[in-house]
Amino acid sequence: MNTLILRLALPAPVFGLFDYLPPPGVDPALLRPGQRLMVPFGPSERCGLLVKLTGETGVPASRLKAARQLLDEQPLLDETHLDFLAWAAAYYHHPPGEVLMSALPVRLRKGKSPLKPRPSHAFLRQVPEDEARALKKRAPRQAEVLAWMQGQGGCIRLEDFRRRFPSGRSALNALCAKGWAALGLGESAPARAQTPPHDLEPEQQAAVTAVTAGLDEYGAFLLDGVTGSGKTEVYFHIAEQVLARGCSVLLLVPEISLTPQLVRRVAARLAVTVAVMHSGLSAGEREQAWQLARTGRAQLVLGTRSAVFTPMPRLGLVLVDEEHDASYKQQEGFRYSARDLALVRARRAACPVVLGSATPSLESLKNAMDGRYRWLRLTRRAGGAKAPAMQVLDVRNQRLAGGMSPPALQALEQTLGRGEQAMVFLNRRGYAPVLSCYGCGWLSDCPRCDARQTLHRGQGKLICHHCGSERLLPKICPSCGSVELHPLGQGTEQLEEGLSRRFPDYPLVRIDRDAASRKGSLDRLLARVKQGGAGLLVGTQMLAKGHHFPNLTLVVVVDVDSGLFSADFRSAERMAQLIIQVAGRAGRAELPGQVLLQTRFPQHPLLRSLVEQDYNAFARQALKEREMAALPPYSSQALIRASARRPDTAEDFLQQAAELAGQLAQGRVLVWGPVPAPMQKRAGRHRAQLLLQAGRRPELQHLLGALVPALSSLPDAGRVRFSVDVDPVDLY
Ligand code: ADP
Ligand code: ZN
Ligand code: ZN
Repeated sequence: MNTLILRLALPAPVFGLFDYLPPPGVDPALLRPGQRLMVPFGPSERCGLLVKLTGETGVPASRLKAARQLLDEQPLLDETHLDFLAWAAAYYHHPPGEVLMSALPVRLRKGKSPLKPRPSHAFLRQVPEDEARALKKRAPRQAEVLAWMQGQGGCIRLEDFRRRFPSGRSALNALCAKGWAALGLGESAPARAQTPPHDLEPEQQAAVTAVTAGLDEYGAFLLDGVTGSGKTEVYFHIAEQVLARGCSVLLLVPEISLTPQLVRRVAARLAVTVAVMHSGLSAGEREQAWQLARTGRAQLVLGTRSAVFTPMPRLGLVLVDEEHDASYKQQEGFRYSARDLALVRARRAACPVVLGSATPSLESLKNAMDGRYRWLRLTRRAGGAKAPAMQVLDVRNQRLAGGMSPPALQALEQTLGRGEQAMVFLNRRGYAPVLSCYGCGWLSDCPRCDARQTLHRGQGKLICHHCGSERLLPKICPSCGSVELHPLGQGTEQLEEGLSRRFPDYPLVRIDRDAASRKGSLDRLLARVKQGGAGLLVGTQMLAKGHHFPNLTLVVVVDVDSGLFSADFRSAERMAQLIIQVAGRAGRAELPGQVLLQTRFPQHPLLRSLVEQDYNAFARQALKEREMAALPPYSSQALIRASARRPDTAEDFLQQAAELAGQLAQGRVLVWGPVPAPMQKRAGRHRAQLLLQAGRRPELQHLLGALVPALSSLPDAGRVRFSVDVDPVDLY
């Protein structure tokens, strides 16, 4: 009889799996893929994941070791999921052991036993009114807890509860014992779904019908709907039907800051247990959510990027909200696109996948145009709100005050005077991007990067946004001693200062990463604005996402030009998406909005198609340019990045890689470089890159399959850090 070989994934930077013999004393019939085992590894021991049982191995019998211990009775992951993870590792040319193991929560990766499910929220059930009144005298502590829970809408997270009532658990337990309250798993109480569904508009209905017509098979849909057209409502209607069939739903969102809002909305609408997965959770919380999903106790998983790897039984629908968002791309370590993997996952689960956006990525639009995705369009805002009017403001020869042109200031004044709100958008935080000396021309260079340190006046510091290096704001020029130090250019901090001086009678809220961390939660800042009344919002792209301000009627985009002219061919697409997203914050039925775009290039063709027509016209124009230049999505790219402490090492290494790639590619893949990275020095390291591009994806994949495992054997490999990025979205 053949020897039974266990093929395991181990967390190691190696392109392959590891073979072991079964652990002594374990009945081989108990072994199944997806279980964890402890195995000897070098001088120590590691936890690995069983991927395959086989009869063959390339390891000589003398070197084959036995696993030490079987950790799980039941597999943690099923074979479909293992296959999916292995596919992802192969596609992105990342060591499979790392990809497979990182799909497990941290504790489980280390061989610990799974946590027991723990309730994470409490909710109110029937509370008899007269008895509740009597509680005030008899049990004031319970009455206090009860009142607080009622004030919170009847459902609270236990974490919040512990913070509010550090020693209140016995009072809560007493309420549960009475049957007035109960504890629950996941994010919400299934029994409490309460928001009734909207009657769908015809376009929404058509979208729902298109998707639900094929719930048993793979199908990709692009839900291309203007902001406020009710895409989320469409997700809910489809999800309801999927859940009713006993299947589960995976909903991916780009940002953590959006999740609390959406969690509440999902919980209020769908009668299911929701597991939330994002990087802001503690390891324990994450594992709890993961286990809820894996065991099917949660029927809906709502999460950011990495949630695409959550194991879910009977997956019946994958939704990717804001599919164009760059945060779906992991930019370090295992560089994957959660958006792209969502499609693969749905195909393997034989279920529909819906990509939603008001500004679809050019990749997805092309797939829709080519018929690979069904293109579902929602052209009207729900509830009859009008789309805002967009207008270009030519600021050539204008005297700008703090970056603002006179017509823009005038528009702000009128808007505020009418008791409405205005938003001023600038995608640059800090006070100014550079501090300069008028005496000698000194600039606030970062000592570790080819970049300037940004002036943060509030903190009294110069800070590099690329490496985090900082120093105290100098009072005199570090080079010549002159006091003539002046900021160049604008950031949100400076806008805030200038606008609050100009409009002192109106409240102004600045929203960017600095402000959000300084004043506590973003939610609190936003709540202040949402109360209504005249007011000004100043901020970065944090403003552009997810939030709707009903009283907002004017948006000023301070600088569109930085997006139109950049080394990165995707920057125009990003700027257009940002403009549309920002514009989407403005206007409602009775109050149409206006968007002003300040530019020095009013004739720019991409800008004109966006303003005079719409995002779709812009996208078609941009796709034409990409096609002529043979850029993605008309070609496939991979980027090999390298960095080293000394100047030429990275380039030497990439030169060796380029030669090898040239031999392997035989002219079918373009090998471009090595070239210095757009930012040549960053955090003290010199960086270079090699771009590989092919007209056909399989040719690129074929080359990478041979090239990537050989990279670490190149002569200079030991002297550099390098990475491989398949389908890079950022050339920096
Ligand atoms: P999107 O996700 O496309 O930005 P939402 O789903 O958030 O849009 O919907 C925007 C607003 O319109 C929400 O307040 C939502 O409750 C409302 N809404 C959505 N669909 C309808 C409908 N069919 N009738 C009335 N209101 C709707
Ligand atoms: Zn000087
Ligand atoms: Zn720096």
